[in-house]
Amino acid sequence: MKIYNTLTKQKEAFKPLKEGKVSMYVCGPTVYNYIHIGNARSAVAFDTIRRYLEYRGYDVNYVSNFTDVDDKIIHRGHELQLSPQEVAEKFIQAFYEDTTLLNIKKATLNPRVMESIEDIIQFVQDLIDKDYAYISKGDVYYRTNAFKDYGKLSGQSLDDLMSGASERVADEELSRKENPLDFALWKSAKDGEISWESPWGQGRPGWHIECSVMAIKHLGDTIDIHAGGHDLTFPHHENEIAQSEAKTGKQFANYWLHNGFVTFDGEKMSKSLGNFVVARDLLQQVDPQIVRFLLASAHYRHPLAFSESVLNEAENNLEKLRQAYRNIEYRLKKDAKEYENGQDKDILEKLNVLKEQFIAEMDDDFNVPNGLSVLYKLAKELNIYSEQPVVYREIAQNMLALFSELAEVFGIVLAESALIDEEILALIEERSQARANKDFKRSDAIRDYLKDQGIILDDTPQGTRFKRI
Ligand SMILES: [Zn+2]
Repeated sequence: MKIYNTLTKQKEAFKPLKEGKVSMYVCGPTVYNYIHIGNARSAVAFDTIRRYLEYRGYDVNYVSNFTDVDDKIIHRGHELQLSPQEVAEKFIQAFYEDTTLLNIKKATLNPRVMESIEDIIQFVQDLIDKDYAYISKGDVYYRTNAFKDYGKLSGQSLDDLMSGASERVADEELSRKENPLDFALWKSAKDGEISWESPWGQGRPGWHIECSVMAIKHLGDTIDIHAGGHDLTFPHHENEIAQSEAKTGKQFANYWLHNGFVTFDGEKMSKSLGNFVVARDLLQQVDPQIVRFLLASAHYRHPLAFSESVLNEAENNLEKLRQAYRNIEYRLKKDAKEYENGQDKDILEKLNVLKEQFIAEMDDDFNVPNGLSVLYKLAKELNIYSEQPVVYREIAQNMLALFSELAEVFGIVLAESALIDEEILALIEERSQARANKDFKRSDAIRDYLKDQGIILDDTPQGTRFKRI
């Protein structure tokens, strides 16, 4: 398998640290608002990569943080008259709801800053002890000059960076720093803001430090894959490398993956530009499987131009795949014959060839567009076979199994749910009872079971509703 590594700017053979296992850290959202399609695209892109790694037999330890301490959360709390904890909790729950609709697998772990303060303080202290950081008026800054590899990820030298840096920083902050490129590891508390006690006084962590701390704590000094949006390359990931490698003396991540932007009318979709589509608004209007399919169908490194017409195109393509599935399923139920011996063997061989083609395409830096074209070829085979005068059960089942298996890599469920409404409603009732009795293990198990059957639950003040995906 080959993966494009931002650090070396080339495709490299993928070799995990431990055979059969992949440690993967993905920078998660700042939880002050509902996610927009750009955020959802990043989550879908790395979920698809995770699914493919799992498809290839790797056991993936997938850690993605929630930034729950940040200026934006504090401001949002003032607006909503909520504490920062309440703001974070509200939007973390919303994140889980939206990503569940998009069939994004839950991370192995979602660590949060508020739960990691002690580890962060210890990490910062270690950097001070090693002279990679200094205290200035209650703040602690990273001493960028001390890390000779600074700039290696984004391909910039310290001199290049220096020439632009002084203009970017406000005067007040600049006066606290030895060098304009230095960045805050710890910020002294302002009046009335959430803060924690530290050896340097009351304060809170800077943004970059949390990812170094959480990645190392949960995945080890060196991780296999570190991923995030393209815009995080500099300064966020550059700073993560500087912090982590200064502390451990080891390479922080072996492969750096960055996903492309979602554009809208030719411009990057972002909250600051105000041209964003909120994921949950779209998911209410459009079948979530179509949105998932659209977001999963672009190459993760390329930009994705979002528009009404690409959404329609995704709908049509998904419907073609579903139709092919239904065609074979129909014959299977209606008149498939028991397999005798050797009939249609060439079709089984064809299936193997397509599977190998799929793996070859996806092994090449997760080339989703090419992988999808193999899925369309397979759909064509299904359509042709479903029109044969005689259809054999074993062949049809093999076709459906391979078709579902490959579709699942993209997070698409093609099988119609076998559950009827009454069964679903009975399970929803049982889940409500379990929740009332605080038996969350049972209630989660029911929700997960339904999800596996393609049924998504939506808890509203008026009760629980369900949706087939
Ligand atoms: Zn990060």
